[in-house]
Amino acid sequence: EAMQDPADREERILVSVRLRPLNDKERARNDVSEWECINDTTVIYRSNLSPSDRSLYPTAYTFDRVFSADASTRQVYEEGAKEVVLSVVSGINSSIFAYGQTSSGKTYTMSGITEYTVADIFNYIQKHTEREFVLKFSAIEIYNESVRDLLSTDNTPLRLLDDPERGTVVERLTEATLRDWNHFKELISFCEAQRQIGETSLNEASSRSHQILRMTIESSAREFFGNDKSSALAASVNFVDLAGSERASQTNSAGTRLKEGCHINRSLLTLGTVIRKLSKGRNGHIPFRDSKLTRILQSSLGGNARTAIICTMSPARIHVEQTRNTLLFASCAK
Ligand code: ADP
Ligand code: MG
Repeated sequence: EAMQDPADREERILVSVRLRPLNDKERARNDVSEWECINDTTVIYRSNLSPSDRSLYPTAYTFDRVFSADASTRQVYEEGAKEVVLSVVSGINSSIFAYGQTSSGKTYTMSGITEYTVADIFNYIQKHTEREFVLKFSAIEIYNESVRDLLSTDNTPLRLLDDPERGTVVERLTEATLRDWNHFKELISFCEAQRQIGETSLNEASSRSHQILRMTIESSAREFFGNDKSSALAASVNFVDLAGSERASQTNSAGTRLKEGCHINRSLLTLGTVIRKLSKGRNGHIPFRDSKLTRILQSSLGGNARTAIICTMSPARIHVEQTRNTLLFASCAK
């Protein structure tokens, strides 16, 4: 195998998939996992298929990292997220996405990864007393292309503005200055409560909306006072829990076409296009401006920003079609 250029590796998107265990309901109906992780980088579809059906399902899919149902979220963090998200302490913007159908484990995975990252950032700050750090935290939800502040009780949709220096900014968005771990946990609980307000059910809301938690780190060397800003760094890491990927497809589980535009999620579709284009190189037109999600994340996706995607998979038979779509998305992002 050819040696990989480290610079080349950094430009690429880190793509992992995570298979969740069968849940109680699936076990109760004697489901067995339709998918098997045969090593650290390969997952296969293992049902008995007729030879003609087999061509529809390439048997092996390979990614940077594949996590079986036994893997802990700590492991997913260490091997599928950490190097990307912690580049924020060196002043490099980054984003991590959880992509997959509803109930495949996006929120479970992303909330764990967010906690491990924030804990590691606090550890880093404690060790680097030569610098002064300010941590800022914000949280938004995008629902039907409308942006809401999850750190505010005001549900008025927020506008996006183009700032000549900072790029796209969310107008009037709350930015909390993080004091410590407990403060972070309080803010997370607040966001969770806000996310449930005004929706018929949590599941419906989370299947249709995107959540972005953003942590911004500003730091400067303590020796430098006055106007010397040469050592100042500022960067953000974005934790993105996406809408259910079934919202990106134009067919429902029965394979019939849904009414035009009815269930299709513009931000999710545009993200797919942006990711595919980025994975093929960073030149040419990339349609960041076509959706709210990609506008908000533009400075953390293009340029020298680092990106990781964790695609979550359900093991169940009834989800095979959607899981296959998820793996195709993941393959395009590589
Ligand atoms: P999504 O956000 O994709 O809709 P969730 O993260 O809410 O899915 O997961 C659906 C259910 O499965 C939740 O009850 C969650 O706790 C559980 N679950 C998901 N992934 C795992 C996992 N790897 N191990 C154990 N339970 C999981
Ligand atoms: Mg969820």
